[in-house]
Amino acid sequence: MNIIDIISKKQKSIELSKEEIDYFVKEYTAGNIPDYQAAALVMAIYLNGMTNDEVTNLTMAMAYSGEVMDLSSKLNTLVVDKHSTGGVGDKVTLILMPVVASLGIKVAKMSGRGLGFTGGTKDKLESIPGYNTEIGMDDFIKNVNEIGISLIGQSTDIAPADKKLYALRDSISCTDNIPLISSSIMSKKIASGANRLVLDVTVGKGAFMKNVSEAEKLGNTMIEIGKKAGRDTVCILTNMDEPLGRFVGNNLEVIESIKALHGEMEHDVKELILYFGSYMLYLAGIESDIENGKRRVWETIENGNAFNKFKELVGRQGGDVSYIENPDKFEKAKYVLDVYSEKDGYIEEMNAEEIGKISVLLGAGRINKEDSIDYSVGIELNKKTGDKVCKGEVLARIYANDEQKGKEALERLSKNYKIADYEVSKKQAILKILQ
Ligand code: URA
Repeated sequence: MNIIDIISKKQKSIELSKEEIDYFVKEYTAGNIPDYQAAALVMAIYLNGMTNDEVTNLTMAMAYSGEVMDLSSKLNTLVVDKHSTGGVGDKVTLILMPVVASLGIKVAKMSGRGLGFTGGTKDKLESIPGYNTEIGMDDFIKNVNEIGISLIGQSTDIAPADKKLYALRDSISCTDNIPLISSSIMSKKIASGANRLVLDVTVGKGAFMKNVSEAEKLGNTMIEIGKKAGRDTVCILTNMDEPLGRFVGNNLEVIESIKALHGEMEHDVKELILYFGSYMLYLAGIESDIENGKRRVWETIENGNAFNKFKELVGRQGGDVSYIENPDKFEKAKYVLDVYSEKDGYIEEMNAEEIGKISVLLGAGRINKEDSIDYSVGIELNKKTGDKVCKGEVLARIYANDEQKGKEALERLSKNYKIADYEVSKKQAILKILQ
């Protein structure tokens, strides 16, 4: 077997066998296939697609390219996990995980850093002073067994083939592709020990999938892989034309999440938390009725159990709990700049990807892997799609530590809002549920 024959087959749209896919993944991960040949194969996959069998074989080969964790026997329970295909202002994990942990689901979750215009849960957690996302595996399991929850960074041993392939895809403009995204996500989830999965498939300007029909294809591909790999999967398609919630930026999103855990949240965040929470309870076998599940999710927020679970988590991971009790303690950006509306009307449109890029410019995200993060900078969206505005009203607020970058952000953000003269309806947060 050799890589040139494999590239040539895929160029001609001929289905690759399991052995050929295994060979490619094993040899590429080991450094025996150079990037230029791997890039040629990835481009052929990008252009010609993959059959369901090929996608499943690629997923399993990547999952088994490193350690595959058997969490369920270590935790003595089914492991239900949640993952998003990527978005801007996505603080769902921070809110949802303490919610479901307080309802009896054992949460053992690994999350990645932000890259490009999308944020990462690991960075957000690290904006809490003292919070350690790199505790060892033994402490990770111990925390889950003792307090029911641990949130840490992605282990380097999980799906190393995906890590290498993802960086390669990024460098040759092959990220937005259904077989490649679905195998990337599912390989990591299988390797990190999930038995059942709820996937947030984002749709719109700030997502890989720009419309519902593409997102449906992606969701159905992941459900199919899940079936073949024995991992029940539910996909919830969510709107990512505009960022989720009110804030974009690391400690700003943590503060927003703390408020949410006290019951104070934007309508889109609330909708997502109720549905994702309920579907996680359903997959864990704790609740069979989705409406009842939503009620239980809201109850555990209202009675304070979810907030207390978050506090317990932060304390256990070395974080300073006084920040959770008093979010005013979080470091604040030096400059606050307001974006004003130039006319009366209704917000018709904004672009989540551009807002994500502006937050990266401010320092809230990284362009290169090695870049450091400024935890206190970001954007507050005072108005979102469908909101009525008057001339002179504040549309958004920029939090910056560099005055020049703040001014540039202000200029770019002012152009981001499209205001209509007529009434515009609010965006629906949940677009479709696939199972
Ligand atoms: N998230 C991933 O983990 N992989 C992708 O390819 C896209 C989003």
